[in-house]
Amino acid sequence: MSRFWSPAVHGLEPYVPGEQPKGQSFIKLNTNENPYGPSPRALAAMAGAGGEALRLYPDPVAADLRRVIGEAFGLGADHVFAGNGSDEVLGHAFAAFFRDKGPVLFADVTYSFYPVWCDLHGIPYRRVATDADFNIEVADYAGPCGGVILANPNAPTGIALPLSEVERLLRQHPDVVVLVDEAYVDFGAESAASLIAKYDNLLVVQTLSKSRSLAGLRVGFALGQPHLIEGLVRIKDSFNSYPLGRVALAGATAAIEDRAWFEQTRARVMADRDAMAGGLQALGFKVLPSQTNFLFASHPGRDAADLLAELRQRGILVRHFRSEKIRDWLRISVGTAEECQALVTAMGGILAGKD
Ligand code: PMP
Repeated sequence: MSRFWSPAVHGLEPYVPGEQPKGQSFIKLNTNENPYGPSPRALAAMAGAGGEALRLYPDPVAADLRRVIGEAFGLGADHVFAGNGSDEVLGHAFAAFFRDKGPVLFADVTYSFYPVWCDLHGIPYRRVATDADFNIEVADYAGPCGGVILANPNAPTGIALPLSEVERLLRQHPDVVVLVDEAYVDFGAESAASLIAKYDNLLVVQTLSKSRSLAGLRVGFALGQPHLIEGLVRIKDSFNSYPLGRVALAGATAAIEDRAWFEQTRARVMADRDAMAGGLQALGFKVLPSQTNFLFASHPGRDAADLLAELRQRGILVRHFRSEKIRDWLRISVGTAEECQALVTAMGGILAGKD
């Protein structure tokens, strides 16, 4: 608390980082990082970009990165905005498209930062209930609103909506921005990027943190028609540079270009995910159908927070959310095949009452 704060700051809760413990080494299945590491080409590009050239400001329009991202989706560079992680890009989008409009809509079980950005920017919002199995029903989003935010696949459930349903949502709300957060789309879902030419109200946001294994670099991007991209450019808070530095630009550009590494590692993550789901189901867990690099699982006979604590004692970290509707569930990130097997073995031991 400080007398120097603006009134809006008093209502904001600082994020308490509890998911990145220091010291002890854990099998870390709690923050949806990719176990396979960044593309070797990206690592080499970053090493090359990090020398004497760092004395110079980066490319003020991030031309190469925006061009290669655009090419990957069959779009021009003028359809691409890049920022420091998709969190920054999402924050800019909230500021650019949702301030001073009606309430924005998002699911009652979804990425927990959406209400945080709403509070930061004074944006009213309404949470729309999913059904008991956490499915999003597009018909529930009908009616006037200031915008719609859809995490697709959703987090932390992992469930994806088919593109036809995303399109229904876009048609339902032609006069406000429909923001589709595709942080996990590369693990089996369909991207709405293919709909951009058809819908001037569609903004797709993706990240290099998950399928490109670059969570530490902080690069995310938005795709949309140029008028939406220009809205984001007007919000970004630097006059003489893009939000991304030279190392991030070089690494991200090479990571997008290295299609082979991307395909190979995401296929492994999806295969390991499905094997881990099978292992948990065999132990009696209910596991939601996941199109992401994590599973959302619940055991009918055991308290989720207790399971998390017991796993932690065995050196494995997973994630639990306290909010009412999902308190019986654990979110488990997909690690290497060995890590996934270790998780299933540890769960088996816990359920059997063994140390
Ligand atoms: N959207 C969703 C749904 C997420 O789960 C995350 C990761 N926490 C993000 C966006 C942000 O990812 P990043 O800032 O690393 O790009």
